[in-house]
Formats: sequence, structure tokens, C-alpha cells
Amino acid sequence: MTSYFDEHDCEPTNPEEQYRQNALLELARSLMQGLDIDSGWMDASDWDQRLPPPASKTVVQNLPLHRITPQQADKGLKCPVCLLEFEEEETVREMPCKHLFHSSCILPWLGKTNSCPLCRFELPTDNPDYEEFKKDKQPKRDIGLLLATDAQLPSRT
Ligand SMILES: [Zn+2]
Ligand SMILES: [Zn+2]
Repeated sequence: MTSYFDEHDCEPTNPEEQYRQNALLELARSLMQGLDIDSGWMDASDWDQRLPPPASKTVVQNLPLHRITPQQADKGLKCPVCLLEFEEEETVREMPCKHLFHSSCILPWLGKTNSCPLCRFELPTDNPDYEEFKKDKQPKRDIGLLLATDAQLPSRT
């Protein structure tokens, strides 16, 4: 999978810049502001061309809560969606990719699509078609990684 920065041939200068240039975060922001991203948004039949389905409800309900530590607050850790700094002791949602979001920012997003708007880490969905598609697609998408790993591993006997 090529990242935004590969395609655009530039390095992110700082995290804030990176947040602002992220199209998914833009969408997540619109959603948080009550805009419906469904209207006119990608109607192609191919999953490659549209947003994956919503994250599984059970997974979303079980996303761990994380309490912001004084260290994190000191570092000025921000919610990538609304770009507000987290307050010390504030309780936020932690994605499996370890990214932290306000519940009010990430929950509407996960009700639309299953990926972390920051790094595109995908949560499981309740959509059997999409899960099948992911299974089919996985080997192709990770082929570079697999080749690299295979080269370093002693052959299994
Ligand atoms: Zn937020
Ligand atoms: Zn993430």
C-alpha cells in the first residue's frame, strides 16, 4: 500500500502538518461536524474505490478507554480529528494501532468506516462481503512485506 507521502513525493514536516494533509482526517472532521459524507461520496462498486464498511459494533464498543497521563498532556498530545490537545485525566478512546481520539470524534467515524483515520489501520467489520474481500486482497497488498520477511527467515523444515 503506498502512503499519501509516497504518492506525493514529500516528507511530512511535522505531525500537525501530517494531520492537516490527511484526507481521511478531513472526512472524519466533516463527520464530527455533522456533515454526512455519504452524499455523493464514492459510489463505485469496487471496495478499492470506496470507504470500507463500518467497524464491527462489538469491536467499537470494546475499544479500550485510555486516561491521558500528565506526560502525554505535557507533550501536547492532540486528537488527530479535532486537533484539540488532550487534557490531563481526560478519558479517550485507544485504537488497536495505539492512536488516541476523543470518543465524540472517532465514534461517528467508525460508524461509517472501519479504519483509523490517521494510519488506516483496519478494524474488523460486520460485513461478510468485505471480510471476504480483505482475505482475497491481503496476499497481494502485503507481497512486498512477505518477500522481505521470507528472505530473512531460515527455511522451515
Ligand atoms: Zn477530538
Ligand atoms: Zn492509527
